[in-house]
Amino acid sequence: MHVPSNSRLLMLLGQLERMSRESMMTEAEIARQLTAKILHLIQTQDLQTTLNILYILSELLTVGGGRRVAVFVSKGGPAILLKLLISASKESPPSEELMLQLHSLLAKVGPKDRKFGVKARLTGALNVTVNLLKQNLLNSKLVLPCLQVLRVYSSNSVNAISLGKSGAVELMFKIVGPHTKKNTTLLKVALDTLGALLKSKTNARRAVDRGHVPLLLFAYQDWHRNDTRQRHMLIRKGLLASLRNITNIKCGRTAFIEADGMRVLYNTSNECLPVRTLDPLVNTSSLIMRKCFPKNRLPLPTIKSAFHYPLPHVPAGGPVAQIYSQMPGVDDVVDDSDEETEADMENDTENEEDEKDCRAGNDDIETDLSKLRPREIHSRPFEELRVYDKFFLELSEDFQVSGVPYGRTRVDPFKLGVDPPVNSTRHIHSPLLVGGIAAARRGGGGGSSAGGSDCGSEGPEEEGPLLEVPDTALLLPLHDPDLYVEMVKGTASVPRYSEVAYPDYFGHVAPTFREPLLERAYGVQRAKIFQDIERLIHPNDILDKVVYDLDIPSGPVIADDGESLKFNSQFESGNLRKAIHVRQHEYDLVLNSDINSNHYHQWFYFEVSGMRVGTDYRFNIINCEKSNSQFNYGMQVLMYSVQEAIGGKPRWVRTGEDICYYKNHFSRSSIATGGQKGKSYYTMTFTMNFSHKDDVCYFAYHYPYTYSTLKMHLSKLEDLRSPQIYWRQDVLCETLAGNSCPLLTITAMPEATTNDHLCPFKNRPVIFLSARVHPGETNASWVMKGTLEFLMGSSQLAHSLREAYIFKIVPMLNPDGVINGNHRCSLSGEDLNRQWQNPSHELHPTIYHTKSLLQYLAHIQRAPLVFCDYHGHSRKKNVFMYGCSVKETVWQSNISTSSCDLHEDLGYRTLPKILSQMASAFSMGSCSFVVERSKESTARVVVWREIGVQRSYTMESTLCGCDQGKYKGLQIGTRELEEMGAQFCLALLRLKRLTSPLGLRTQQHFLDVESDLMETLNTVCAVVLCSVASSSPTTYVMEEDEPSFQEEVDYSADSNDDDPDPDVEASNEPEDAALHLDTLSDCETANHKK
Ligand SMILES: [Zn+2]
Repeated sequence: MHVPSNSRLLMLLGQLERMSRESMMTEAEIARQLTAKILHLIQTQDLQTTLNILYILSELLTVGGGRRVAVFVSKGGPAILLKLLISASKESPPSEELMLQLHSLLAKVGPKDRKFGVKARLTGALNVTVNLLKQNLLNSKLVLPCLQVLRVYSSNSVNAISLGKSGAVELMFKIVGPHTKKNTTLLKVALDTLGALLKSKTNARRAVDRGHVPLLLFAYQDWHRNDTRQRHMLIRKGLLASLRNITNIKCGRTAFIEADGMRVLYNTSNECLPVRTLDPLVNTSSLIMRKCFPKNRLPLPTIKSAFHYPLPHVPAGGPVAQIYSQMPGVDDVVDDSDEETEADMENDTENEEDEKDCRAGNDDIETDLSKLRPREIHSRPFEELRVYDKFFLELSEDFQVSGVPYGRTRVDPFKLGVDPPVNSTRHIHSPLLVGGIAAARRGGGGGSSAGGSDCGSEGPEEEGPLLEVPDTALLLPLHDPDLYVEMVKGTASVPRYSEVAYPDYFGHVAPTFREPLLERAYGVQRAKIFQDIERLIHPNDILDKVVYDLDIPSGPVIADDGESLKFNSQFESGNLRKAIHVRQHEYDLVLNSDINSNHYHQWFYFEVSGMRVGTDYRFNIINCEKSNSQFNYGMQVLMYSVQEAIGGKPRWVRTGEDICYYKNHFSRSSIATGGQKGKSYYTMTFTMNFSHKDDVCYFAYHYPYTYSTLKMHLSKLEDLRSPQIYWRQDVLCETLAGNSCPLLTITAMPEATTNDHLCPFKNRPVIFLSARVHPGETNASWVMKGTLEFLMGSSQLAHSLREAYIFKIVPMLNPDGVINGNHRCSLSGEDLNRQWQNPSHELHPTIYHTKSLLQYLAHIQRAPLVFCDYHGHSRKKNVFMYGCSVKETVWQSNISTSSCDLHEDLGYRTLPKILSQMASAFSMGSCSFVVERSKESTARVVVWREIGVQRSYTMESTLCGCDQGKYKGLQIGTRELEEMGAQFCLALLRLKRLTSPLGLRTQQHFLDVESDLMETLNTVCAVVLCSVASSSPTTYVMEEDEPSFQEEVDYSADSNDDDPDPDVEASNEPEDAALHLDTLSDCETANHKK
């Protein structure tokens, strides 16, 4: 039997060889058949014949590219070779030549077979290779193919654990060592294998326990010193990769620190810096150092806000009760657990997915159809709502009795007892106190009066030249410094501020020059991170001098020798908790949590003085929370220079160089992260070179807009009233701190008081607008200012708009949050835009009463035509809207298709569509009309669902800038934001024309909207399909009010590791991982294996 089959085999091989020489593509099918036959025969031969076949196979598979290997794999070749390997290993002694040939072939075909690792484990081949290697470590001929096969085995996470148990880790450490010129190929393969093995935490622990961390560090240093011509980058990289994987576990990090790893990697990296090709080494070193940098707690006594506000009652189980039930000191525990293993950051390109968005999937989309259908439930009896009559006087007024030619103005609480002081000279003093006490002079060269407002410590009599306030009356018709100070007097703040920030006093005249998005120079982020690491390497450079601290009872400003900058944030909307002078020209800054809360820090607004000219100062805000920021994508901080203002340029400008946002070594307490352990804070760093001596400068997250500014603007807007304008300012309610929440009514006066004029007047559709529920989103106020100014304007368009609608506007839904420098919450420590379903009369008065107004309107069948709540967006560019659509939500969520035949009016798309046609900052592509579960208690969703407003929106304006339209590439300024507010008005006017029965273009327009919708849906479908295929995040996963960042996301110096923990996976069905990989496209697999 042997002879005939043998000769048949030789014949077949002969054919195959000929074919391969001719390499004829057309005969691929024949080649397949031949291979199948060979594979059958190969199993039935004696040793010599088998070897002969293997030699020929090896030759065949070496030429002809990957195509032949693929055919071989598809015909089950690897499994047969593995079987041969097992049976050969049972011979004693096994044929060395056969082993060599088999491993050489397996090394060739293994990487092309996705299930190779699983097959090898199931056949029992793992140990055959490991044992062979153990016995032949000095047999250089055999070692290489065995290592190559081992490398393929260990890329499977379950195999890695099994191989670890068999001693493969120890084996690799016998091969890996200091610099040598011999066998570098072997070393490279061993390092690859070791790196893969160490991904298993058990193996990493094993390596630490056997003391291999110092060995790896020594070897790395040795290669670094001797590989002067950079020929063995891959070996050096391999050593680092092993260190990187070992330091994913806590004992690995400890061993690294104990072996002086920080200094070793810091020094070697610095020496690598000048050679650009060594960047991967520097980046991996940086990653390891950041991971191992000892975690610290923030330099604060508690992460609870420095201010507490006693609430009328504290709901049990609510956020405030939880925070204040903690024992002192336990709220900020450093948690150095292994929960969060860090992913690779090979360089500082910016293309990784945001961790949160990755994880959440699209679970957040509402899938309960009954919750999606708008319901108009009048849950409250009308008797209860009748008290709101007084806010709708325009609906009952007959305009007969009143002698006043225009709408009555109710008592303006802001003007009670205030006599605007006449001050014709308009001189300013410092500090700028509400009481108007003069103290130090400003500028003028020299003098002992370092700038800054010193909380009134200096006497009022001090002499000095008084400086002119810039005259901006013409440029800023709504601004008046004296009126501002008066308004501040009526504003109640929790810290009882008595100072006024100069920018709010002088006003802001938008600069006329363009402010492009900042382009970050290569390597800036890395350089900043290295500077942070230097703190550990050179501890003697650290001053650690606290220069500002809200937590000390004697007052925040700490007396100083004049060597440090001075900080202050004791004014409305100010936010800075602590400033620490860390190195000569570097300051760590800590932001305050929202009042009655222990997190939500993002907004900042503070004053700096005492600077030197020509010095680069580095500022680090060290307790940022978001995993990524537009500060990584071109956004700059805002600065206001008092010297510039006095010189005639009162304005906020985008400034700061070397801006980066990255994860730092300050540990975030799980108490403030909702239970997630192992999280860190983020640093936002910027560098500033001041241009004026003795200047006082202000920095802010975005253009400030205080509550007192709003009151001043409203007062000035009221002055713009003409006999044609119906304007009323009511006090909707008082906030928790006792500040008034203004409600505006704006429309056109009726032309006459006869019934045929009054009736259409009263029947005008209502437009309901609100803004600034989130205090840190100051841009929303600037958009609102644009809307209000347009509405009060004298143009024909403004007049037509007033004639078309009755506007009800709550311009600031969260005055207390704004005043006290909160970022997101009110004094109740809660996000007011999550309270709309069930607002508390006591704790959320502004929401309670605003919702009541809307319920009142619904009751009298006058529900608004449009509801829009203005917001700001910190992670996306442009301006866009969120609306509510059952149909688009259903499409997104893949609810059974039977529900897709529901009918829905497409009217909700009209307004955003109009805006995208007329407002250059507006982007239709960023709009979403999906209802998310996490948003069910936001204004938009509740007004849509409970009040029955089809056109219920959130309008989001970027804090950063635009990447499309006329403003593409520019950062956004107040001019563009105000323009957006005005364009919103124009869009409403166009909406009126389109929705009126006489609108001739209506039909055509709706066709446009529909085709536009279809386009979007096609894109959405494509996105959904993609996301199903790749299990990548969908488009609509939200964090807070913000959808996933669709552009370049998170460079994320270190988001969570994508790879599942192999130790956990071990119990899974072995095929799972392989099958899963099969469903992925090639490029996905590549990513996975990265
Ligand atoms: Zn918001």
